Amino acid sequence: MQIHLSDITDSEGKIIQFGSEVELDKISFQMGEFPILDRSPVELRIANTGNKVLELTGKGSLTVGIPCDRCLEQVSVTIPYDIDRKLDMKQTDKERVENLDENDYLTGMDLDVDRLVYLEVLMSWPLKVLCKEDCKGICSRCGKNLNEGPCGCAEEPKDPRMAAISDIFSKFKEV
Ligand SMILES: [Zn+2]
Ligand SMILES: [Zn+2]
Repeated sequence: MQIHLSDITDSEGKIIQFGSEVELDKISFQMGEFPILDRSPVELRIANTGNKVLELTGKGSLTVGIPCDRCLEQVSVTIPYDIDRKLDMKQTDKERVENLDENDYLTGMDLDVDRLVYLEVLMSWPLKVLCKEDCKGICSRCGKNLNEGPCGCAEEPKDPRMAAISDIFSKFKEV
């Protein structure tokens, strides 16, 4: 959703408060692409604190599907975020780039709420995601999810005849 900020920029002391729907359906960045499973509307408050500076605060949360670090099953992770930014509306887009402000959510007088929420969620991205504390992960040999039960790989065949048979099987697999 785009919000046009020219009215509030011209009204010193004015405060607006509103809820905005988030239209994102996925979060993509260098770690991959993650579906958004649920989202709350973002509650935004914009205050003109004078001198064409806007104070932008707000909060919301997104629920994102992220694979478990150990077993890769998708985990539904709720990421709350808090927005607290100052927008100097006197700056041109060019000046913002030169000042290395990372607010590419602002173009001219237009605030891109989805882009802002995207950046906030990235800043709150969880470092570690587990489906459960004692997730057993996947077998490094056969790839079975060990939460669903043992795969049998861990135990080496003790009977030499069984070992011979499994050798034959692995030869078949190589063909
Ligand atoms: Zn897991
Ligand atoms: Zn296995």
